[in-house]
Amino acid sequence: MASIPDITLNNGQTIPQFGFGVFQIEPKDTVSAVSTALEAGYRHIDTAEMYGNEAEVGEAIARSGLDRGDVFVTSKLSNDAHEPDDARRAFEGTLKALGTDYVDLFLIHWPLPARYGGDFVATWRTLEEFYREGRARSVGVSNFQPRHLRRLHGETEVIPAVNQVEVHPYLTQDELRAFCAQHQTAVEAWSPLGQGNCLQDPVITAIAERVGRTPAQVVLRWHVQRGDIVFPKSVTPDRIRENIGVFDFELEPAEADDITALNRDERTGPDPDTFTGR
Ligand code: NAD
Repeated sequence: MASIPDITLNNGQTIPQFGFGVFQIEPKDTVSAVSTALEAGYRHIDTAEMYGNEAEVGEAIARSGLDRGDVFVTSKLSNDAHEPDDARRAFEGTLKALGTDYVDLFLIHWPLPARYGGDFVATWRTLEEFYREGRARSVGVSNFQPRHLRRLHGETEVIPAVNQVEVHPYLTQDELRAFCAQHQTAVEAWSPLGQGNCLQDPVITAIAERVGRTPAQVVLRWHVQRGDIVFPKSVTPDRIRENIGVFDFELEPAEADDITALNRDERTGPDPDTFTGR
């Protein structure tokens, strides 16, 4: 397998461009799925307190025999813990569950502009504390729109290292991605396969046939060539191995453009401008 590129974040830390997401993996299945991923060569795991499987992610990493420093671990703040003291307690809980004294990346999971009096700035300042203490090697946000990012730029010191947002062929997010690029915030594409929804699209299946790859590999390769960070989820060992096999072929620019043209601004998840996290 060709090696996975690192992306350098705005603070000089590096993140493997390709990882493994564990949203909707039951705790009882998580150790096995993450172990399969680590055996297949994944070195970046994306979890969250709200996924309820941080402890199992930590257990799989511990069991793998890999050094802690060889696996990039991201977690995220629960929507119920945006008040600074709650955020501090939640972060302690995340470190304890993962069985580690630092995470590589810690994110505000949702901006929740209709909750907490719209104040995600105080929450961000609390993440800045974790960053300064070295307990979060990098800090970032998730599901932030340009208007939310502008507020952080105007009122706080640390520029988010990443913004993790929904991106797939039916929601290409070109404006948001350009805004992030302009502000040195790396984009992480969540639900990179649109939760599987775009894999039967005739444009994608035709390219897959032409290049002799699966539709999932074609979509993941499209993300990689756009420069986004991705972490598809699967509990099926063959798919976990299939998904990471995207570093030994390339899409022609015209093929990549055909996939980008599938955009319909269609979300599979909540709208960040209105979502209250409940
Ligand atoms: P995804 O786009 O990775 O799709 C996963 C689904 O696609 C699987 O359940 C399976 O049905 C299908 N699939 C996976 N591999 C396949 C293959 N090779 N062939 C055919 N079908 C395949 O969706 P996701 O899990 O929602 O997103 C990935 C990760 O993004 C999550 O696990 C999580 O880490 C992150 N995420 C973050 C947020 C956020 O708000 N920050 C929200 C959703 C997801």
